[in-house]
Amino acid sequence: MFCPVQWQIRYKLKKGARDMAFNPVVDEGKCAGCEECVDVCPVDVYEMQEKNGKTVSVPVNAEECIGCDSCVEVCEEDAITVEEI
Ligand code: SF4
Ligand code: SF4
Repeated sequence: MFCPVQWQIRYKLKKGARDMAFNPVVDEGKCAGCEECVDVCPVDVYEMQEKNGKTVSVPVNAEECIGCDSCVEVCEEDAITVEEI
């Protein structure tokens, strides 16, 4: 059922996220290549790439990041930081 209050809250949250910018960074030395961050990111920031003989996650679409921190929470290696810029 359509709820105008919920719609307004969602709109404001989205607008607020659009007005901010975030910088997701992967520590490639810590990354274990599990791909969990690729799966969890709602805006497809990450892509797995071969680097220095191992498969690591790379934030190829960093400008799309909405700062939800899902990738930070899912990464068991503590390889990801997301800072507001
Ligand atoms: S969740 Fe962490 S360990 Fe897994 S691919 Fe992403 S950065 Fe690497
Ligand atoms: S903070 Fe959210 S939107 Fe940004 S890279 Fe991580 S999962 Fe994707």
